[in-house]
Amino acid sequence: MSKNRRDFMKVGAAAVGASMLTPYAGFAERMDRDERALFSMAVNDAGEYTLPPLPYAYEALEPHIDAQTMRLHHDIHHNGYVKGLNAALKDMEQARGSGDYGLIDRFAQKAAFHGSGHILHTIFWQNMINADKSGSPKGMLKRQLETDFGSVDAFMAQYKNTSAKVEGSGWGILAWEPLGRRLVVLQAEKHQNLTQWGVAPLLVVDVWEHAYYLKYQNRRGEYLDNFMQVVNWEDVGNRLEAVMK
Ligand code: MN
Repeated sequence: MSKNRRDFMKVGAAAVGASMLTPYAGFAERMDRDERALFSMAVNDAGEYTLPPLPYAYEALEPHIDAQTMRLHHDIHHNGYVKGLNAALKDMEQARGSGDYGLIDRFAQKAAFHGSGHILHTIFWQNMINADKSGSPKGMLKRQLETDFGSVDAFMAQYKNTSAKVEGSGWGILAWEPLGRRLVVLQAEKHQNLTQWGVAPLLVVDVWEHAYYLKYQNRRGEYLDNFMQVVNWEDVGNRLEAVMK
């Protein structure tokens, strides 16, 4: 196993953390797959999604992201997506059992909304680290940013401006687009919509008001400036290397 691969798996394992539960059938072997580590969609022995613990303490991102926001955001908001996703899957299971598919479109919408929320928040926590350890883009990530955006600074400016202009609630996303083999910056306005199917999100920033309102009120730009101070560039680089293989 290469060093990068080892580091990458470590990142995935850290995301799941100590809450790794008894695997259900087939789960252990799938754990080795890149996708498993990428999205860290931990499930319990009943096959239900679980809330992954933060890979650091609530106050680890202070003063850029405050502990109270982190606590509410992770424990309440993210947990709501996990519960909603499990409920949608249960609704679908019941529909398959009864043969009553009258509400199946609603269930699919719920699974998309809560599933996207769960996946994006899981990446979002891992995308951040204390500012002292934030570092800067290196290696393959740096080269690809330069190729696709001209320079790292140009990417930073495009990413911040794109994220600042998301209407209402949503996300700013740096993603790998595998058909053209290039990095793209996207907005997610409603996170279950407007995706480019097949992209792999690498760096995501939550611009829903709950992510910053306590500390920054309506000053989203100031929040984004502070978010950029706590990006875990090693995590972003590991994700790129994994999807480019
Ligand atoms: Mn959020």
